[in-house]
Amino acid sequence: MAIVKKKAAPKKSNTIKLKFDTEWTYAPAPESRSAASIKPRYELFINGEWQKPQGRKYFATINPATEEKLSEVAEANEADVSKAVEAARKAYDKTWKKMPARERAKYIFRIARMIQEKARELAIIETLDGGKPIRESRDFDVPTAANHFFYYAGWADKLEYAFPNRRVSSLGVAGQIIPWNFPLLMAAWKIAPALATGNTVVLKSAETTPLTALKLAEIIQEADLPPGVVNIISGAGATGAAIVNHPDINKIAFTGSTDVGKLIQRAIAGSHKKATLELGGKAANIIFEDAPIDQAVEGVINGIYFNQGHVCCAGSRLYVQESVAKEVIRKLKDRLETLIVGDPMDKNTDIGAINSKQQLETIHKYLSIGKKEGAEMYESSCPLPRKGYFCRPTLFTNVAQSNRIAQEEIFGPVLSVLTFRTDDEVIEKANNSPYGLSAGVWTDKGSKIFNMTRRMRAGVIWANTFNKFDPTSPFGGYKESGFGREGGLHGLLPYIELG
Ligand code: NDP
Repeated sequence: MAIVKKKAAPKKSNTIKLKFDTEWTYAPAPESRSAASIKPRYELFINGEWQKPQGRKYFATINPATEEKLSEVAEANEADVSKAVEAARKAYDKTWKKMPARERAKYIFRIARMIQEKARELAIIETLDGGKPIRESRDFDVPTAANHFFYYAGWADKLEYAFPNRRVSSLGVAGQIIPWNFPLLMAAWKIAPALATGNTVVLKSAETTPLTALKLAEIIQEADLPPGVVNIISGAGATGAAIVNHPDINKIAFTGSTDVGKLIQRAIAGSHKKATLELGGKAANIIFEDAPIDQAVEGVINGIYFNQGHVCCAGSRLYVQESVAKEVIRKLKDRLETLIVGDPMDKNTDIGAINSKQQLETIHKYLSIGKKEGAEMYESSCPLPRKGYFCRPTLFTNVAQSNRIAQEEIFGPVLSVLTFRTDDEVIEKANNSPYGLSAGVWTDKGSKIFNMTRRMRAGVIWANTFNKFDPTSPFGGYKESGFGREGGLHGLLPYIELG
């Protein structure tokens, strides 16, 4: 980083303006693609082998930052899903269920170590396929995915201590459907606890981001996991529906939209299938007047702009106490200007590409809804790359509680700012949402943190921080954010029966 004299330079996204006629210019620091190997075509990973899809159909996966095709992946149809479920059932009955738990743990541990060994490659592929900044893939997605495997490897032979005086049995075959916002991490959240509890798996990756799940399949193959214990297939919504409806699936684990979550619940109603649904969110992030303001502003920025706002627990509704609202909004706007938007492979980038054209359209739709509703829109003045799907970090002020931008999940870098005067008022407003996944509270007083969090209906509440994840800690929602918990000891429960 160099400090240079300001000289009518064209406005660049990697330039941060400072007072006194100086600006800090970040030289580009692109990660090299060379450490990643992406095949031109991927088949389905069924029964420990790469199998061609029976419908012989493939679809392209593209880099949303450049719109270039990265690879093509197989589309699994119903027959492929059946094959994968059969393989998982056979592996469950013949191998995995019977294997001593300490042996199962060794496999899970081995997968964790191999994710660490291939961390750089996985991070590059995650960024190329999904558009998230390489810093986030490298420092968050990949290490947290490895940590989930490490953590659950530890539980595999200690289930009797997790649930003392109970008989713990596995369920059978788990059907798992993951979204596009944290592809590798979501695969780890789903596969690790399922294996640790003795279940086998059929997992479907998301249509726009299949590559790291397929890389995980390569790792699983290299780790010599018995064939059929984990099957990873790619496809669109119809493939997910085929998993949900397959009669030989014992448990569904789904992360995605509330709409699809509702479809799944209807589809499995009355069946023997257990389910965990981790759905949308519209988290309230609350700043009280006694909060450390600069720290809170930084937390709000991280809370909403992390991963381009494609985060189910994103702090997308900001409630600021009226007495500090002006100061907070000014500081937020200043900070917005310093966020670097652009090439996700550049290590300086704060905000990468929107995951897909379709998601960019959804975000744009909400930007016009917000303006039409009478809210005031402020977006960073940064230029956007000419190619690829990009969106400036944006915030809305003068937002009413009833506005759609305060009620609905936008899933993009868009913050709605509302104000409040009293504790009761903000509790009422924060809880007035169909969702209840996460929330944040910023205050100097410990007692206030306890009082507020006790009254808030959200699965995870962060105090004086946001977006902190740890495999030991459970995650999941209330209301339309779904049910069941993933992570921690609680994350074992959805995969077992207790006698
Ligand atoms: P979806 O809920 O459609 O996608 C999640 C996963 O479910 C994907 O693997 C998807 O496949 C699959 N799927 C789609 N339809 C079905 C079905 N009928 N039965 C079983 N599985 C199905 O989310 P979208 O990608 O369409 O995103 C739409 C909105 O959902 C976003 O704007 C955001 O608001 C929210 N969302 C929330 C997430 C969260 O973490 N809570 C994650 C992703 C999205 P495919 O990828 O092929 O469509």
